[in-house]
Amino acid sequence: MKDLNAKLLSLKEWKIVSDERPLVIAGPCSAESELQILETAKQLSANGIKILRAGIWKPRTRPGSFEGVGSVGLPWMKKAKEETGMLITTEVASEKHVYEALKFGVDILWIGARSSANPFVMQEIADALKGIDIPVMIKNPVNPDLDLWVGAIERIAEAGISRIAAIHRGFSTYGKSHYRNIPQWQIAIDLKTKLPNIPLINDPSHICGRRDILLDVSQKAMDLNFDGLMIESHINPDVAWSDAKQQITPAQLDDLLKKLELRDTKNHSLEEQEQLSKYRHQIDRYDEILMDILSDRMKVVKQIGAFKKANNITILQETRWKEIMEKNQKIAHERGFTDTFVDRLFKAIHQESINIQTAIMKEEKEVEDLIKKR
Ligand code: PEP
Ligand code: MN
Repeated sequence: MKDLNAKLLSLKEWKIVSDERPLVIAGPCSAESELQILETAKQLSANGIKILRAGIWKPRTRPGSFEGVGSVGLPWMKKAKEETGMLITTEVASEKHVYEALKFGVDILWIGARSSANPFVMQEIADALKGIDIPVMIKNPVNPDLDLWVGAIERIAEAGISRIAAIHRGFSTYGKSHYRNIPQWQIAIDLKTKLPNIPLINDPSHICGRRDILLDVSQKAMDLNFDGLMIESHINPDVAWSDAKQQITPAQLDDLLKKLELRDTKNHSLEEQEQLSKYRHQIDRYDEILMDILSDRMKVVKQIGAFKKANNITILQETRWKEIMEKNQKIAHERGFTDTFVDRLFKAIHQESINIQTAIMKEEKEVEDLIKKR
């Protein structure tokens, strides 16, 4: 991992982009027509956006949806580059895509979430890239698997590419959710911990799947020190051929970017650092107290486990569990916590209690079995 991290270049070292935060990549989900690409590029460029994205080949979940215009869209992007001076980027998912994109002067390639989940596809792209020096951005795989994401990055790095960025676009989920793809921020943070040199870009469009929460997610990415944002922008989002609900006009994008608050992450004064470390000390102390309390709670759980065993009572009792949840939801409301937080917290505590009690039952059963054997 150390070797992989050492191979990665920072955005500044990429030479083709500035290290201004955030690095913004914008453009439509899909290229639809020459006019749409040129007009989007002009409007974005007029607002200072320097990198144009557009999907030429679209990986769609089900057949029958619009699967991209294909190679005919590449000359449109090339023209947009020539007319605006923007850099252009598109998604590649096969050897053919790589060669076609290179032929038309695509400056940066990106690899989509369905491809990064597939080592065969990743290897095919990596092999096509051997000996070519082009920046590659790798989206997280659709499933929340950090190793798979790192593996995809490794394959591209092993092909000799050192300008690699990671794009966090959230993870697939089954059932109703606030997000189209749940962010699971911790996975992006863990990637950055493993590979501190990798530039990290957030894709709020595919996380949100809707316009109204794009700013919230973008702000959160900035607060977590992401280097950039990839946001879908279309001149007429409502009639976009793909991902219509999540796209915004170049003007709306400009507005969003102006609303972002960029809080400083480095260069704090000594006093600020001192104050921060005081707060952190307090947090550490509370964490320790929380652990002590939980450990005391688990001691009682053990006693209950032994009692249930002795009196032949089942570990899980639905009514008691319901009662705990209701009581704690009420207390939590009074303290200003959200239902989701309390739900998650107590489910985790309850699961640990069940594990402890299961172990106790098993232990005692083992002793009993031994006695029976004698
Ligand atoms: C896209 O960027 O339009 C796209 C298809 O994204 P993802 O691979 O994240 O689904
Ligand atoms: Mn899209």
